[in-house]
This record gives sequence, C-alpha cells and structure tokens, in this order.
Amino acid sequence: MHISTQWQNWWLPNCIKKPRADLHKRAGVGHESCTYHFTHDGVDERWLLSHDHAPSAPSTEKLLNVVHQVVVNARVVKAIAANRNDIYRPEVMQTIEDEIDMLGPRLVDLSMQIHEKAELKFHENFAHDTLSDFMAAQGFKVTKNYKSDVPSATETPKFMKTAWRAAFTHIPKQLGASAVRTLGVNSEMDALPIPKGQVTHACGHNLIAIGGVAVALAVKKALQQHDVAGSVVLLGTPAEEGGHGKVRLLDADGYKGIDACVMCHPGSGPQHSVVTGSSLAIQAIRVEFTGKPAHAALQPWEGVNAQDAVMLSYSAISMLRQQIRPDLRVHGVVQYDKEPLPANVIPADMAMVWNIRAPTKADLEGLRARVVKCFEGAAIATGCTANIVCKPPVLNLNQNSVLAKEFAHIATVRCGMTAAEADENGAFSTDFGNVSYALPALHPGYAVPTVPNGGNHTAEFAAAAGTPEAHAETLKVAKALSLLGFRVLDDDGFFKDVKDQFTATAK
Ligand SMILES: [Zn+2]
Ligand SMILES: [Zn+2]
Repeated sequence: MHISTQWQNWWLPNCIKKPRADLHKRAGVGHESCTYHFTHDGVDERWLLSHDHAPSAPSTEKLLNVVHQVVVNARVVKAIAANRNDIYRPEVMQTIEDEIDMLGPRLVDLSMQIHEKAELKFHENFAHDTLSDFMAAQGFKVTKNYKSDVPSATETPKFMKTAWRAAFTHIPKQLGASAVRTLGVNSEMDALPIPKGQVTHACGHNLIAIGGVAVALAVKKALQQHDVAGSVVLLGTPAEEGGHGKVRLLDADGYKGIDACVMCHPGSGPQHSVVTGSSLAIQAIRVEFTGKPAHAALQPWEGVNAQDAVMLSYSAISMLRQQIRPDLRVHGVVQYDKEPLPANVIPADMAMVWNIRAPTKADLEGLRARVVKCFEGAAIATGCTANIVCKPPVLNLNQNSVLAKEFAHIATVRCGMTAAEADENGAFSTDFGNVSYALPALHPGYAVPTVPNGGNHTAEFAAAAGTPEAHAETLKVAKALSLLGFRVLDDDGFFKDVKDQFTATAK
C-alpha cells in the first residue's frame, strides 16, 4: 500500500490517490449496508460496510476516512491472524511486549511530567534529572551531564550540560568477559516556544523520550530473560530543535562504541502508520564582505563597495537557482544588524546568511561548492574580501534499509501498523541525520492523532503529544524497535547485512 507523509490529518486515506474518480458509493448512506468500490495501486477492491461505518451526512473526506479505516483494520486483523509469529524470535517479542505493557503507566507518567514542564533546548534540566534518575533506578549505569566538559569549537553555548547516558550490559555466564555488540537508543527532550510566549512540546519530544526509555528497558529485559549477550546504551540527546545536540555529541565521541542506533519521532499521518523515509540535509553559510568606506560623491573611486558584493552574489545565486535541480534549495537574507546605512557613504561591511538544502550529503556538498563560488566571484569583481563561514551541516537521514525493512515487518505483522517508505525526502531536517552517516541507524516516524492543520510545531500538536492515543502509538513503535534492536545484538548474520548496507551508503 502506498503511504505518503504529506497528509496532515490523522484519518486521511492516502492509499487512495484519486478519491473522487476511484470511489463510488453504490448504495445510499443510511441503508442497512453500503458497498464501496475503489482501486489503489492497480488493485480493485470492494467492501461491504454496515451502516455503523457509514457517516450519516458524509463529506467525501469522511467517507474515505471510514473506508480506509475499515480496510486497514481488516487487513491488519487478517495479517495478525495469519502471521503474528512470522517474526524473529517471537518468544523474545512476547517478553518485550509484556515488559513494555507492565511499564506503560509509569512511562506515560514520565512523559506527562516532561510534557507539563516543557524546557527549551540546552535547558532540559528537569527532563535530564527525571529520566536519568529513572534509568538508574532500573539498574542502568548512568552518566549525568554526559560530555558536558567538552567545549564546542563553533557553537553556542560552548558547553552542553543536559545530555546523559544510561548503559546496561548482559553477558551469559559461559561466555565470560567477551566482547558484545552495543545497541544505541536516543531520547530527545527539548520543547519549542510555540505558541509565542509559551514553551510547549510542539514536536512531541516527551514521547520520544519515553520511547527511548521503553526500548532500552525492554531490550535489557530480553537480554536477561533469554540470556543473550549484548549492551544497550540510551543517550538523552538535548537540543534537537536548532541546537544540533547530536552533532555535538558525535563530535565529542559521545556515540563511541555504539554499533547501531535507533530512535522514533511522532508526527501526523494515517492512523497506526509508521514511515522510514529520509529528510533533507541543511547547512547554513554566513558570508561577510569587507571593503573600504569613502564619500559616495566626492571620492567614490577610493571606496571598495561591500554592498556591491552582496548584490552581485545575490544575483549570481538567483541565476544559479535556474540551473539546479528542483529538489535543491538555496535561500538567504542580508543581515541589517547595524545602524541604518547612510546613502552618502560607500558601504564597507555587509553580511548575508544563507541556507542550502539537499536530499543527500553528496548533493549538499555539490551545491555548497557552487554557492560559495558566487560569493568568491562577487568578492573578486568588487575587490572586497569575503569571509565565508560554512556551519556544520545537518545531514539527511541515511536510513539503514536492512533495519528499515525488518522494523516495517515487525510493526506490520506484530504491532498492527501500516508501514511504508516515503517516495521523497520529508521537508524537515534532524540532527539524527548526522548520526545515520556515522553508524548504522534508523529513525522511523509514526503517526499520532492530530487535528487538521495541527501537525508538528503547532500548539495543536503540543496538545496531541499529551493524549493517551499518542502514548499508545509510541509504546507500540517502541516494541517493534526493541525487537529490531535485540536482533542487532543477537543475530550475527543480520548485523553483518546491516553493516554492509551502511558501508555502501554512508558516503
Ligand atoms: Zn521539531
Ligand atoms: Zn522533533
């Protein structure tokens, strides 16, 4: 079934591409039953729905929602009945499910505490203490303020204080102190200033936080109960919202020793769906042109005009836009951060900030080289000097396809979810992208109930992130990720495939 991530509503049936053309209501609504007929992906389907399912005054949208839901439910029920145990070590999955079900109420309580006490990037002090204390109480070895003594060369604040690390290792007695593989899991914690004047969990990171905790605890339980060798490391990762917290942790060797890393992120989308598409890589570039001031009428020939360099590079980039692929983006602004400029002086200092975006790291690097040439050319033409500072890029998600396929299988067969790869990169960026180029990694998105126009980064999404339904979806995804992570630790052949796929793609 085709799933796209563009839909903003919980119920929208995005398996149906041309609803009005393809859906025919064969009987009047309000009758005992109605037959609905539609096609998708070339498959012709007819469904007989009882009047319970038929809305009394249906809009096309409502009607499609009902049909989609019934079809998905029917398929899922069929799939579960037939294939429930068609997964890697179903007895381990049972352990995982029992553990997460048992922990559920406490995890929801943790999430709601973080949801109510929302904290901005780099200030996740309550979440840091609450989550790391919880993990310590669950038998994990906890490092608070992880890597807080490592300064950043380029970013502010210089020190990041709110990361934490929780680790657990199980080694079967007969193995002794042998080397084991390590699964990494990430819990995000930061909130956003949305709506203006309020700090809320408008990106649902309270759910990500407990999703990570659930995976770490379930994998611990599975390793112990089934006596399998392995380590699990849960990282509390601050400042995802524009702070590049994971990039900073990577630079500080914070992911050292981790063999594969997983996390999950809530969003809007079809009910009970997960998606493993990529995101966009993004990089900020700041350029400062420096010339020489002069009277603009008396001796303009003595001046070197920084504004001309700005205009020339802006024009050059505008022309460049026509020659680049439609999935690349370049957008920038002039920085008027000083006093208003007088018109009778040749401007000597001006700066611009640009963002470039691309579907892959390689595309980003190619685009950056072309944009930088526009600045250099303008500097040569005007005689200015150009100080070009390329900030560290946030890379696209290099989703490990072996992990993605296995996760989708577990989520579908065992957790009753629909799973799909997106056709295009989602129009968002995440610092987990950099993690996915450093080690094999998976970052599935999953749907929580949202209202129309209430997707991520809205006040409505902050409310959605506090609902019981959103927590239920989070824990379901955590179960699938737990079995996936367990297999990484337990199955040498599977891990080799994961690693080979990473080697082939992380360039
Ligand atoms: Zn966000
Ligand atoms: Zn987010």
